[in-house]
Amino acid sequence: MSPASKRIVVVGGGTAGWMAATSLATALPGSTVQLVESEEIGIVGVGEASFPMLRDYHKLNGIDEAGFLRATNGTFKLGIEFRD
Ligand SMILES: Cc1cc2nc3c(=O)[nH]c(=O)nc-3n(C[C@H](O)[C@H](O)[C@H](O)COP(=O)(O)OP(=O)(O)OC[C@H]3O[C@@H](n4cnc5c(N)ncnc54)[C@H](O)[C@@H]3O)c2cc1C
Repeated sequence: MSPASKRIVVVGGGTAGWMAATSLATALPGSTVQLVESEEIGIVGVGEASFPMLRDYHKLNGIDEAGFLRATNGTFKLGIEFRD
């Protein structure tokens, strides 16, 4: 391991943990990123839409958006209406 490389541990295997771990592994090549998930505490794991900035996250991490949508069976959501 070179002096610049680091060992990083991300605690929590929900959306935030996995996205942070992906970004750290992309931004810091040569570093080791380990993600720790709990067997006892579940994830929130819900959600049907996302902010447009998710596209920047995909670009930043070299994730093919069309492939991502196919793999997750996702769709584009173009708007949300809140009443009352
Ligand atoms: C009804 C509903 C609808 C939603 N809809 C949307 C939506 O449309 N779009 C959107 O973007 N968001 C939506 N959200 C929000 C989104 O789902 C959450 O913000 C997101 O899933 C949270 O992810 P997280 O990684 O922060 O937390 P979590 O998913 O809770 O992950 C936390 C992780 O930390 C781990 N952990 C906790 N304590 C420990 C410990 N002591 N040691 C080790 N691990 C630990 C847990 O095991 C878990 O893996 C919605 C939420 C709800 C409730």
